[in-house]
Amino acid sequence: VVSVKDVQKHYGALHVLKDINLNVTKGEVVVVLGPSGSGKSTLCRAINRLETIDSGEIRVGGDLLPEEGKALATLRAEVGMVFQSFNLFANKTILENVTLGPLKVRGMKKSEADALALKLLARVGVENQKDKLPSQLSGGQQQRVAIARALAMQPKVMLFDEPTSALDPEMINEVLDTMVGLAKEGMTMIVVTHEMGFARKAADRFVFMADGQIVEEATPEEFFTNAKSERAKDFLSKLI
Ligand code: ATP
Ligand code: MG
Repeated sequence: VVSVKDVQKHYGALHVLKDINLNVTKGEVVVVLGPSGSGKSTLCRAINRLETIDSGEIRVGGDLLPEEGKALATLRAEVGMVFQSFNLFANKTILENVTLGPLKVRGMKKSEADALALKLLARVGVENQKDKLPSQLSGGQQQRVAIARALAMQPKVMLFDEPTSALDPEMINEVLDTMVGLAKEGMTMIVVTHEMGFARKAADRFVFMADGQIVEEATPEEFFTNAKSERAKDFLSKLI
């Protein structure tokens, strides 16, 4: 579903993505780990074309990501992205937040978009909040709305960049549970997270990054019991 090939990216003199190669197949859940500044967010943003790359190739669903224009908007809709901050539209209701994309980008009819949004809001457990504004919801509820909004575009892959790191502890699990549910339903997912319990449970594969490189790929079990690189061992030793 996602193919990243020989990707290089600099910020000025800083080499942030060094020859990244990554393939994610349909239904796979890949958890990206690594120390702060290793390039995890940059990689996610590059996959969604929120960030340009210097060289290499990124394909989603077999298509090369176009540079701009309508093709880019359509292709970006294939990649659902959920960030640390929820980025909901503050002056729109929960229902409107979820229907906006399907109406504008997918050209769906309002009745259809409403029905889809209600189904997705129910799936993430916030359907009774549909007429409220984002500020009237808890952080965990807002993040679940953000997930529903991304799903409303019927993406081929969902990217999560530390979706729970801005949340109060008691709200983390409701968001992680929603993500586990998605994974079980066969959604293709790339998840940057420090939540090791979730990672171990949900991931098919770990990708460990350090200094802009993919240093190690392993199953969760292999990674926890038999990490090969010094960087990964060092990273693991610093987890609780
Ligand atoms: P964290 O775990 O802290 O979120 P990360 O692995 O997501 O870290 P990135 O945000 O991808 O790391 O950053 C990789 C490197 O690129 C860092 O050294 C960072 O300072 C740098 N960087 C990120 N965004 C920019 C930018 N817009 N301009 C310049 N440098 C940037
Ligand atoms: Mg980051």
